[in-house]
Amino acid sequence: MNALAPIDQRDIVPAGACASTQIFQEKGQREVFCGLTGIVWLHRKIQDAFFLVVGSRTCAHLIQSAAGVMIFAEPRFATAILDERDLAGITDIDDELDRVITQLLQRRPEIKLLFLVGSCPSEVIKIDLKRAAARQSQIHTPRVRILNYSGSGIETTFTQGEDACLASLVPGLPFEGADAPQSLLVVGALADIVEDQFIRLFDELGIAPVRFLPMRRAADLPAVGPNTLFLLAQPFLADTAQALEERGAKRIDANFPLGEEGTTLWLQAAASAFGIAPDHFDRVTAPGRSRANQAVARQRQIIAGKSIFLFPDSQLELPLARFLSRELEMEIIEVGTPYLHRQHHGPELALLPPSIRINEGQHVEDQLDRCRAAKPDLVICGLGLANPLEAEGLTTKWSIELLFTPIQGYEQAGDLAELITRPLTRRTRLEV
Ligand code: SF4
Repeated sequence: MNALAPIDQRDIVPAGACASTQIFQEKGQREVFCGLTGIVWLHRKIQDAFFLVVGSRTCAHLIQSAAGVMIFAEPRFATAILDERDLAGITDIDDELDRVITQLLQRRPEIKLLFLVGSCPSEVIKIDLKRAAARQSQIHTPRVRILNYSGSGIETTFTQGEDACLASLVPGLPFEGADAPQSLLVVGALADIVEDQFIRLFDELGIAPVRFLPMRRAADLPAVGPNTLFLLAQPFLADTAQALEERGAKRIDANFPLGEEGTTLWLQAAASAFGIAPDHFDRVTAPGRSRANQAVARQRQIIAGKSIFLFPDSQLELPLARFLSRELEMEIIEVGTPYLHRQHHGPELALLPPSIRINEGQHVEDQLDRCRAAKPDLVICGLGLANPLEAEGLTTKWSIELLFTPIQGYEQAGDLAELITRPLTRRTRLEV
C-alpha cells in the first residue's frame, strides 16, 4: 500500500547547497511506499534472519504482494496482525506478542536474528517494541538475537526501512580497538553477485580486510572501531552512517557505484583512502571499465537526447540522474528525492549539470503538473503514479525495479542502462 501523508502547508524554497545547482524543497501530499518494503530485499540478504512485522492486514498484504513473485516454502518474513481484540490492554498485547515470538522460534530453529518491525496502525504505536525485543532477547539469548526497528509509513519512506534495519544492528557490532589494522566496511544491501564482484576487485586492488553490512549470516557481524573506514554502497543510509560514526568509524566520501563512472569513482575513493597506487588502480579496473563502457554505449545509441523526469521514491534518484545525464546523455528535466543528505550526496551534486531542477520532498499534484507540462520521453516513478501517467500517454519506469535488480558495479552498468531504455523500446514496438 502507498502511504499517503497529507501535510497542510506548502513551502517551496530554493536552497542552494551547491553553488551551481538549485535545490527546491517541497512539502505536501506524497506518494511513496513505506519502509516495510525493504524487507523484500533484506530477507533475501541475511539468510538466517526473520522479519516479523507487527502490524495490520494492510501491512501483511503489502509485504505479500511486494514479495509475491517468489513462492517460499518457508518465508523469512511474516506479519503478527493486531486486531480490535488486542486493544483490550497493553499487557495482553505484550503477552500475545511473546506467545507469537516463542511459537515462531520453536517452529523455526534456523532463525538466528529476529527483527520486530513496527508499523503505523495506532494499536502498534502503543507497543514498546524496543522493550519487547529486549525482553525476548533475554529469554532466547544466545540462540537468537532480537532487534527492532520501524518500517511505519509515518516515520519512513521506502528505502528508509533498510536504513532503520541496518542502524539497529550497529550498536551490537563487535568493537575493534585502535591497534587493529585499517579495515573497509561496505555498507548497504547489494545483491550477492555484485558483492562477490566487489570482493574480487578489492582483493586485486590489495584492500583488506573488507567486510559488509548487512552480512549474509547473523553470526558474521562486522567489527567496527576507530580504524574502520566505511563506504556507502547505497545513498539512503543516513541513520546507519551516523550510528557507525558514533562507534568511531569514518566515512569515505564517494559517489555511488552506478554506471562505469560511479563505480570507478566509488572504488577510487576507497583505493585513495588505503593508499593504493593510481597506476595499479588503473590496471585492476581497466577491464571492468571497458566492458561497462561498451555495454552502456549500446544503450546510449537508443536513448541519448531523450528527456526524463524522476519522481522522488528510493533516494537513488541523484546518482541515477548523474548516470543518465553523463553516461547515457539523457536530458534530465527534474530529479525528485524524498530526502537529500547534503554531505552524502555532495560528490553526486558536483557532477550534475547546473540546469537540472532538484526537488527534495514532494507535493505530488504540483509535481505531476510540472511533469505533464514538460512532456518527458520517460518518467521514473513509484507504482502508484505509473498507471495514471501511462494512461495519459507518458512512458514510465517503476523505480522499485531499481531496488530489486542488481544494478551496481561494472558488470551491471549495461543492465542498468537497459532497464532505462526498455520502456521506450517497448513503446516504440507497440506503436509500430
Ligand atoms: Fe500501510 Fe503503514 Fe502498514 Fe506501511 S506500515 S503497509 S503505510 S499501514
